[in-house]
Amino acid sequence: MGERYDFIVAGAGAAGLSLVYHLAQAGVEGRVLLLERAPKTENDRTWCFWEVEAGPFEPLVFRRWEHLWFFGEDQGQRLSIAPYTYKMIRGRDFYAHMERWMSTQPQLTLRYGEVTRIGEDEEGPWVEQGGRVYRGQWVFSSLYQPPPPSPRYHRLLQHFKGWVVRASRPVFDPQAATLMDFRLPQRGPVCFGYVLPFDAQTALVEYTLFSQRLLPPEAYDQGLKEYLEGVLGVERYEVLEREFGVIPMTDAPLPQQPSPRVVHIGTAGGCTKASTGYTFQRIQAQARRIAQTLQERGRPVLEPGSIRHALMDSVLLHLLERGYSSGERVFSRLFRKNPPQRVLRFLDEATGWLEDLQVMASVDVPVFARAALGALWRRWGVGLWG
Ligand SMILES: Cc1cc2nc3c(=O)[nH]c(=O)nc-3n(C[C@H](O)[C@H](O)[C@H](O)COP(=O)(O)OP(=O)(O)OC[C@H]3O[C@@H](n4cnc5c(N)ncnc54)[C@H](O)[C@@H]3O)c2cc1C
Repeated sequence: MGERYDFIVAGAGAAGLSLVYHLAQAGVEGRVLLLERAPKTENDRTWCFWEVEAGPFEPLVFRRWEHLWFFGEDQGQRLSIAPYTYKMIRGRDFYAHMERWMSTQPQLTLRYGEVTRIGEDEEGPWVEQGGRVYRGQWVFSSLYQPPPPSPRYHRLLQHFKGWVVRASRPVFDPQAATLMDFRLPQRGPVCFGYVLPFDAQTALVEYTLFSQRLLPPEAYDQGLKEYLEGVLGVERYEVLEREFGVIPMTDAPLPQQPSPRVVHIGTAGGCTKASTGYTFQRIQAQARRIAQTLQERGRPVLEPGSIRHALMDSVLLHLLERGYSSGERVFSRLFRKNPPQRVLRFLDEATGWLEDLQVMASVDVPVFARAALGALWRRWGVGLWG
């Protein structure tokens, strides 16, 4: 038994909220139950992404930039990315907007409490929250479980701490975000600065690393100070807000449909791009597709990922994980030897064969070939003989 709905969405983060929104936009009818641990009261994250057209949440874009700075291998480049715009949406604006929108949707019920189990039996899929069982025609879950360790797959973490700082004098370039700044000392794992300027004196400044393990908490503050004071030359500043995040970067497969009527969405459903951690736009594409196929065919049909791009992600992860080449060198060459629009298209998996080869060749052919062999051996060789 249990209370019945048409759609149950577990997790009201980026993916869950985007899905309920896109279901309504596509005109999918039915009662929707959204389950979340607790109300969102914090600005727990900031989403940045690039696109050409206006997106579904355009009014929420807090800042946008048509130029990106890249600092690496002894030089800085200020890149015009037109026709793309790099956009920023703050978590709190997104959550507040969705809360207002949800209050106008009579088909939608939101319940808070810990989701403890999700399953499917002969009566269909179900979710347990706070001791109560809810049943639906379909269950969509964004509750992330890391894949089990396996020698065949790469597992890195993108971990970062950010401060919104107000400097005592104008120091930031308000027209350009800094995508990667490798002027920080590279003492082991790939680490770089990331700057999202709000104006000439205020910016979200982040210290980011790609590695297998997190650092002790004080090391992020030290990295941020080193970047702000040592690299950007900002000695006097006030910290207005703090953000900390960990994004899994892995090529290990995540179960997208663990049972016939349970579908994983968001990071849990493989939306995080393994080699970069960018997820927000892929969540929108996934939610749009689920809503559209539900409306047209009565069932969600997931987009099969591009095998070619997944392999290239594995090669990039291998390269970063094994240190075949420094992260600084890899990304510097990507940006120095390709128009930025091509790099963004490549990261969007919107490039064709020829462009992919151009991008990969720009990294360093012998290094890339070695990493490709290493990644392939690890995936299939270890499986056969390991
Ligand atoms: C700090 C930070 C910054 C990021 N910045 C970017 C960016 O700039 N660009 C980009 O593309 N990507 C970014 N990402 C990656 C990605 O876009 C986000 O992680 C995104 O929020 C993923 O959406 P999701 O819905 O899959 O997961 P989440 O947004 O984490 O949503 C999952 C939800 O499930 C809830 N939940 C979990 N377990 C339970 C449970 N047992 N019971 C009930 N509820 C539960 C959580 O409270 C949460 O609300 C960032 C990630 C972080 C952490």
